[in-house]
Amino acid sequence: MTRRDVLKALGGALGASSWLAPSLSFPTAPRRDTTPREADGQIMTVTGPIPPEEMGAALPHEHVLSRFGEPPARRPDYDLRDVFDTVVPILNDVQSAGCEAIMDCTAAYFGRDPLIMHRLAELTGLHLITNTGYYGAADDRYVPDHAYDESAAELADRWLAEWTDGVDGTGVRPGFIKTAVDGGPLSDIDRKLVRAAAKTHTESGLTIAVHTSGNVPAAREQLAVLDEEGVDPSAWIWVHAQNVDDVDALAEAAEQGAWIEFDGLAPGDEIEHHLELVQAMQERDVLDRVLLSHDGSSYPPEGTEPRPFDTLFRTFLPKLRDAGFSAETIRMLTVDNPRRAFTVRIRT
Ligand SMILES: [Zn+2]
Repeated sequence: MTRRDVLKALGGALGASSWLAPSLSFPTAPRRDTTPREADGQIMTVTGPIPPEEMGAALPHEHVLSRFGEPPARRPDYDLRDVFDTVVPILNDVQSAGCEAIMDCTAAYFGRDPLIMHRLAELTGLHLITNTGYYGAADDRYVPDHAYDESAAELADRWLAEWTDGVDGTGVRPGFIKTAVDGGPLSDIDRKLVRAAAKTHTESGLTIAVHTSGNVPAAREQLAVLDEEGVDPSAWIWVHAQNVDDVDALAEAAEQGAWIEFDGLAPGDEIEHHLELVQAMQERDVLDRVLLSHDGSSYPPEGTEPRPFDTLFRTFLPKLRDAGFSAETIRMLTVDNPRRAFTVRIRT
């Protein structure tokens, strides 16, 4: 797909709404001349690669758009005017709180929309990052039929095509791989998705974020699959790690190099819980492997409550300061760690 096709697709999708009028100059359009190899050492945002030091304070796990809970759909049917009227003020607000980048963890089939993300990045100036991959949790509801028939290598080829040509061929390229596993031992399909993610990593250098939650055995099984594929644990993020009771299991993974993501920040009890986790990781000297986010949702499906993106900046960071964490440590948690975790680099 050429850049002109992207413009055409975007223009066609935009209709007449003023939010949506495409900037014809497209100053930040995807840089189609950037081959994957040239993206090495960069962070791939929806508007193109940026040097990691430009990213700033980042939220590594949020849902800017989501249809989670609705029937699977490859192309979500969003009311564009409503999306922009709702989401732009929320993004502007979290920006004013100090956020400079957001990784959107909404995967294929439950609401991922690269062209809307591209326009939101243009409208707000935020660095937005989208993903490739399939989501294997929620009892595999959002895993497409072809994933059962194809091999891990064939799935990796599909995801690598998104890396090269953009998500759904739009030219808007993914900045990481998102997948997910269910509870219990890894199922055949979940294992295949993790293996496909590992194979995608070895060709692209994209980081692999896996919804694993409190499933410690599944985390270990995933690291074993990565090892079989020659992928270093530092290419892998343990998503929803705040649901793990055994902090030593998290520290063990962190010591191997894995990223430990506490992404359930929300007003209320979660503040204290996340503070305890951060303190526990500091005691074990692995704070340089910790990521913090909200798993927020700025445009959830109808009937679902939005979840805020600003608790980290407005409540949790002041709490960390009060608890004695230095400015350098806070910078490490909000800027340096996400930057290191999401820099495109083959880690084998
Ligand atoms: Zn999430």
